[in-house]
Amino acid sequence: MIGESFSGTDECYVCGKTLKWTKIADAGRGSIVVYEVPAVRANAFAIGRNDDGSIKFEIECTCPNCRTINRFVKDINI
Ligand SMILES: [Zn+2]
Repeated sequence: MIGESFSGTDECYVCGKTLKWTKIADAGRGSIVVYEVPAVRANAFAIGRNDDGSIKFEIECTCPNCRTINRFVKDINI
């Protein structure tokens, strides 16, 4: 990733639980950084770029309730 973290709130498709997911920026250079552990940790994959310059990301996170992996598509300005 690009050293950014972002988050969002979506609903699990399967059980309807609200997922407050967070994509945590990777800590560089082996620095010791203590993060607040988010409720739902997400992976983000860049899958496209929009005409307005925002990036289309596919967010993948596991529902803590039913363990289903959900994928959400987000347009994020970096
Ligand atoms: Zn669920």
